Amino acid sequence: PHVDNPYAGATGYVNSDWSTRAAAEPGGSAVANISTAVWIDRIAAIAGTSSAKGVRAHLDAALQQDAANGSSPLTIQFVIYNLPNRDCSALASNGELKISENGLNRYKTEYIDPIAAIMGESKYSALRIVTIVEIDSLPNLVTNTAIAACAEAQSSGAYVQGVQYALNKLHAITNVYTYVDAAHHGWLGWDSNFGPAAQLFASTVRGTTAGMASVDGFITNTANYSALTEPHFTVNTTVNGQQVRQSRWIDWNFYIDELTFAQAFRQRLISEGFASNIGMLIDTSRNGWGGSARPAGPSTSTDLNTFVDQSRVDRRIHAGNWCNQSGAGLGERPRANPATGLDAYVWIKPPGESDGSSEEIPNDQGKGFDRMCDPTYGGNARNGNNPSGALANAPISGAWFSAQFRQLLQNAYPPI
Ligand code: BGC
Repeated sequence: PHVDNPYAGATGYVNSDWSTRAAAEPGGSAVANISTAVWIDRIAAIAGTSSAKGVRAHLDAALQQDAANGSSPLTIQFVIYNLPNRDCSALASNGELKISENGLNRYKTEYIDPIAAIMGESKYSALRIVTIVEIDSLPNLVTNTAIAACAEAQSSGAYVQGVQYALNKLHAITNVYTYVDAAHHGWLGWDSNFGPAAQLFASTVRGTTAGMASVDGFITNTANYSALTEPHFTVNTTVNGQQVRQSRWIDWNFYIDELTFAQAFRQRLISEGFASNIGMLIDTSRNGWGGSARPAGPSTSTDLNTFVDQSRVDRRIHAGNWCNQSGAGLGERPRANPATGLDAYVWIKPPGESDGSSEEIPNDQGKGFDRMCDPTYGGNARNGNNPSGALANAPISGAWFSAQFRQLLQNAYPPI
């Protein structure tokens, strides 16, 4: 059966690869049994490596956890993340496939087909298999086509066709659920991006075999740090007669946090033709912003920027900062039906796994060095030429970053 919300009434799969690393950190056992997603971030990850289980091994482990659970169904989350020209607007998560090197065909035949073949095996049919489809890909087509790798992703059709192919194969399996990535409020929250993104998602999904039925929902904030809720002001708050929207931090965005963005974007998607029962997910793995720097209440300042900067719980230097953010904490623990329109809060980015190296590190995964991960970088137009806010001494994306895990634990909100 294909239920409306695969998280409702279900237990989450615990990935022992992540769990073991988390539990080995001081205090980490308090969170080590939380469900986190499995990232299939290269072709070799399907079969697995010496340090990470492959898709079949995870599904087999999920069957065991399911059996040990008693009657509640088990939900296991996989991130589908290997489009050609992956991460086209940045470098830290560039992948192994290139559009100019037959990447779209390889994506279909060497990546999606084998994943779908395993997930479709009948012995896994009682599991609820959630797939998070291609982080940042379609959003990059909305805002970043001035960058050559993104322009190529657009002009070749590779991103749209790759996402359609993935949805066709995955949706065809009854117990597989698909959630397409919808970036976050600090990316798509402006009107100039909000509507065009919803339209691109609609035209892309409309072009799949099952049409709009091939997606169960969308996810926001994947691997990002945007606060779930800013408790001390709303988008309509004014200071001395000025709207907070005019502040440097909000910069005219129509949304100040993820929950309001996700709910509004869902309505917009429905108005573009998506089913009225689509559900949103929010990745809350690292958007807690607790600890001693968390403001306890609204600022009393009558200066607009001071008010916003002292009141906001998101302590980033700029909302465009995305790599290994200093001061971040674990966010809401995963749970189903947390708010109207939301299927669940989920932990997709496994806390403690790096977003990118803080200096160049040679590797065989195609991962580049993005200066947004370098704490000495002064920024670019996309973060308002601000410092990156990244932690120092970070390993390549996906590798274990012990110091970051410890800080996330310390700054958890709600506290651990
Ligand atoms: C990396 C992946 C990794 C994932 C989860 C991404 O940024 O590119 O290799 O699996 O994060 O940590």
